[in-house]
Amino acid sequence: MAENIENSPNDKKGLNFVQQIIADDLKAGKNGGRLNTRFPPEPNGYLHIGHAKAICMDFGAAEMFGGTCNLRFDDTNPTKEDVEYVESIKEDIKWLGFDWGNREYYASDYFPKLYDLAIRMIKEGKAYVDDQSSEEIAAQKGTPTTPGTNSPYRNRTVEENLDLFERMNKGEFDEGSRVLRAKIDMTSSNMHFRDPIMYRIIKTPHHRTGTTWKVYPMYDFAHGQSDYFEGVTHSICTLEFVPHRPLYEYFVKELADESYCPRQIEFNRLNLTYTVMSKRKLLQLVKEGLVAGWDDPRMPTICGLRRRGYTPESIKSFIKAIGYTTYEALNDISLLEHSIREDLNKRANRVSAVINPVKVIITNYPEGKCEMMTIENNPEDAEAGTHEMPFSREIFIEREDFMENPSKKYFRLAPDKEVRLKAAYIIKCTGVKKDSNGEIEEIYCEYDPESKSGMPGSERKVKGTLHWVSAAHCKEAEVRLYDRLFMVENPAEEKEKDFRELLNPDSLKVLSNIKIEPYLAQTAKAGDHYQFQRIGYFTVDPDSDENKLVFNRTISLKDSWAKVKDK
Ligand code: ATP
Ligand code: MG
Repeated sequence: MAENIENSPNDKKGLNFVQQIIADDLKAGKNGGRLNTRFPPEPNGYLHIGHAKAICMDFGAAEMFGGTCNLRFDDTNPTKEDVEYVESIKEDIKWLGFDWGNREYYASDYFPKLYDLAIRMIKEGKAYVDDQSSEEIAAQKGTPTTPGTNSPYRNRTVEENLDLFERMNKGEFDEGSRVLRAKIDMTSSNMHFRDPIMYRIIKTPHHRTGTTWKVYPMYDFAHGQSDYFEGVTHSICTLEFVPHRPLYEYFVKELADESYCPRQIEFNRLNLTYTVMSKRKLLQLVKEGLVAGWDDPRMPTICGLRRRGYTPESIKSFIKAIGYTTYEALNDISLLEHSIREDLNKRANRVSAVINPVKVIITNYPEGKCEMMTIENNPEDAEAGTHEMPFSREIFIEREDFMENPSKKYFRLAPDKEVRLKAAYIIKCTGVKKDSNGEIEEIYCEYDPESKSGMPGSERKVKGTLHWVSAAHCKEAEVRLYDRLFMVENPAEEKEKDFRELLNPDSLKVLSNIKIEPYLAQTAKAGDHYQFQRIGYFTVDPDSDENKLVFNRTISLKDSWAKVKDK
């Protein structure tokens, strides 16, 4: 039965298995019927979409059951942490639509209390200072099937331990020369119980506590206690912490009683195809200039996805779709792409942009004449309204929309063939002009004055409809076309190769002179989403300025040649 619940993303009430555990605890009146979760990022990098899954769980459960969720920075390693990361993490959580109110905490706030607890444990004979190197300690650890061996320093007196630990914190000893360890059991079947390290010496100043401390608690000695100090009831994390859970409980028991005790629950991480999710690797990509920064639109970071044009809603609906389970999975990036297509389909205005232009001259259309054509902003949204687009004798269409020797199934423009120009007229190709290389320079057409879209008598149907812009009125812009960051589905799995060798060399293509309709040039501002008709969804990049707009391709449309409708 338990197996059943845990292995299906949702139960009958639509609760996932973590929410179900919370519901049961609340029903049983545990912790006085309180629910308090926390999201505990280490400020050593920017948040990625995996963190968004944890955020949706932690903040989402609190919202669902009327509880609270703390934001706690797990800032226990000053060598890797920075305020830049603290600020970006806050920005990203807010952007996703969650609010921690005044519950912003830092593990470093608890350094004094944790230190006091360590002193108490030394006094009670539960912790000792070990003078061995990390290599020696690792060698004594044993394996899952063979027991470890005791450190020669394990039976130091309480006085000696107190003296040494205090001097460690005063900076008297070098980094790596001594650690404080919990005295538990070197023969335990759980490797984490084999006298785990509680404190290490670090002399790098901390971004919040400066040089106050020279000893810093390890994750296992800080996390459960921080939960306890904050009144956290449900400490939800990812599956790699399952083997840490007994140690979490061991340290928490030093503080908790029956009236209140935090509880750790684990779910499966989000892993995405064609990308990496490890902060260490993402940092490497940034530091080595292999991407343009943490917010490079190819990155799986929240700020990268935002710049690419992903919306909070699309990320949340993707996370909802993949669900929470207790087994590891690799999630298909095309599911995420599906979510953003669905979302932008509802919210993005339709505009005309020609990304690989060729000129068409409509020889029977009067020179100097200009007609304003009406374009529906969004057929999915009745309230989105319309905008006007100028039509004139010379226009641009996509080079791919013309073929000199077309196959039977080609319904776009070809010699003597007719197509409709979206929201305008039907045109027929009468000839072409080529340059000395045989490349088409201009296409000549005649229009049918009776075929104007929306006008009586315009019902005549042709198979293909093309998008276009007026050559005299359009503006130029840049587009950045993104492809997958990696060439292989699961870069983390290719242990033989350095992950950097697996980067997709064609993940970014820049087209600097695309043609856009005047309405788009006039209205677009950074962060706005548009559908370039027949091409895809594009989002205005912050690199845009008054001289040139820059668009990021968020995602291409599904193959939609046949689907474009005209009115
Ligand atoms: P590191 O790579 O440095 O170990 P991390 O990715 O685990 O770090 P943290 O800042 O420690 O990052 O993570 C904060 C929270 O986000 C943790 O509770 C962690 O379990 C969760 N989290 C991290 N990565 C994922 C992921 N891919 N899927 C779901 N949750 C994640
Ligand atoms: Mg972590």
